[in-house]
Amino acid sequence: MTSSPSRTASATGPRVVIVGGVAAGMSAATRLRRLDETAQITVLEQGRYVSFANCGLPYYVGGVIADRDSLLLQTPQSLRARFDLDVRVGHEVVAIDRDARTVTAREIASGETVVAAYDHLILATGAAPRMHVDAAPDAAPVVTLRTIDDVDRITAVLAARGEEQGRAVVMGAGFIGLEATENLVHRGLAVTLVQQGTRPMSPLDPEMAAAVMDTLVAHGVDVRTSTTVDAIDAAGVHLSDGTVVTADLVVDARGVAPAAGLARAAGLRIGATGGVVVDGHQRTDDPRIFAVGDAAEKTDAVSGEATLVTMAGLANRHGRAAADVIAWDNGRLDAAPRLAGPALGTAIIGLFDVTVAMVGWSEQRLIAAGREHRVIHTHPTDHAGYYPGAQRMAMKVMVDPLSGLILGAQIVGGNGVDKRIDVIATAMHAGLPAAELAHLELAYAPQYASAKDPLNMVGYVAENLATGVTDSVQWHELPAALAAGATLIDVRSPQEFSAGGIPGSINIPVDALRESIASLPDGELIVHCQVGQRGHTAARILAQLGRPARNLDGGYLTWKAGAAVAAALQPA
Ligand code: FAD
Repeated sequence: MTSSPSRTASATGPRVVIVGGVAAGMSAATRLRRLDETAQITVLEQGRYVSFANCGLPYYVGGVIADRDSLLLQTPQSLRARFDLDVRVGHEVVAIDRDARTVTAREIASGETVVAAYDHLILATGAAPRMHVDAAPDAAPVVTLRTIDDVDRITAVLAARGEEQGRAVVMGAGFIGLEATENLVHRGLAVTLVQQGTRPMSPLDPEMAAAVMDTLVAHGVDVRTSTTVDAIDAAGVHLSDGTVVTADLVVDARGVAPAAGLARAAGLRIGATGGVVVDGHQRTDDPRIFAVGDAAEKTDAVSGEATLVTMAGLANRHGRAAADVIAWDNGRLDAAPRLAGPALGTAIIGLFDVTVAMVGWSEQRLIAAGREHRVIHTHPTDHAGYYPGAQRMAMKVMVDPLSGLILGAQIVGGNGVDKRIDVIATAMHAGLPAAELAHLELAYAPQYASAKDPLNMVGYVAENLATGVTDSVQWHELPAALAAGATLIDVRSPQEFSAGGIPGSINIPVDALRESIASLPDGELIVHCQVGQRGHTAARILAQLGRPARNLDGGYLTWKAGAAVAAALQPA
């Protein structure tokens, strides 16, 4: 059967068909309706739900979100009532006819075909699991964690076990794998986390990922890095390290790829990333067709190259942007829509007691790309140390040495990580050089921050590096510097030194440096303290006494985190 989606009696404006009814698709639909009451907007969604809170799914699994209905933000009925949208769930779009300007959808329940004509088509098809694993029929259930149906499957497995503790294997230690792990642990399961890479959260630089590993282990997670799943059968999950792990449930969180099959079949241009190529107005190479959200390529803010960023903020923003362009095309906006800006890749995750946030590029990515950069590590507390409850965080900021612009940042800690990463993302968006962070006037009272906020402190370091007041050496550069004959001076107290130091260092507390100057060995000097601050003071004392020294960036804490990761990577 062939039919057309119904239209409201009053609708006379452009026919807009949106494929995919969650983040980007629904942002486009509701924004367009707010701009154009006449548009005939049809949303075709293959799943049973629209506009659901996919970011909340892991927390429903963990019981943190108790009410399943709270994940369902809208229904076709509520969207009809508020926005006069024609939302068809259970409709999979199977083809686009660009000449006829129609899409063909299959109604999943009946198998019937629906043809919808469009003046503008928005593809908001999201992303889909990148890999597939074949499991034997009698194996534990293997599920992804992307939809309401997925969490229904997971919670059914958990419910069937009742009070009995179960075992789960999670494949992939990226954002969703980690969220799945945390929430399954909350539900009392013993979790084995299998990660192909050398550490969890591979976008994090190694010394920053150490805290992620620590918290996983502290919460009893069996983490298998540099490991893959070979097979899943009734005996359990067969791992490439030769072990077999029994499991009641396997969660496949090994990453996603743009769901661009429909666009590809329609002859639209697909980029090397696998995402649909769009211009700054989210238009594909067919001006009547837009692509938004996880399905579409983004422009990387650091390199200007095409990239993929599968995050909800961008999906919503770009859905809205496509609606603006359509409204502008149809005379419903007075101001021309602005071009979509490049993507910074700002992201945050809470993992047990640790918060991890990042924006822009990592140091490892800059090194791989051969891009010049400076690195700054600091270890501030989120608020004044004298006020109860201060929590330490590790901050890392990558800076372009020529322009002084921020290339990326990573922060790992507890309270206050979120606001620091958001200020850095704002600075990057605005094109503020890192040294300008020193001059930001930020809100301060002791329970919230310090008079010199951690962001101001990063700015001071950036300013000192840019102006040559100080010079630093990174933890991973230290072995080569020492091998070349440098002397490493630990300027912490003797108590700190005896509690643990860097092999080969000598201890001269910062307060004793001036009187020790004559006895320092010839050759390069490197100083370090616990976090880098006393080391900076020591380097300044030495420089002014005629013995310039480099400061070990981030001090003992950064070195220790990096050394621990490096040691773990050594063959046994
Ligand atoms: P989606 O929201 O995935 O929607 C695409 C829709 O298109 C799907 O419902 C799909 O069924 C439908 N569709 C696909 N093909 C067809 C077709 N042929 N016909 C009809 N319908 C079709 N991002 C964050 O920024 N922060 C987070 O904390 C976060 N947590 C997440 C947790 C989980 C478990 C998941 C899965 C994602 C999370 N994300 C998070 C990512 C974020 O949800 C996505 O970036 C965002 O939803 C992308 O929006 P989208 O509209 O492009 O795709």
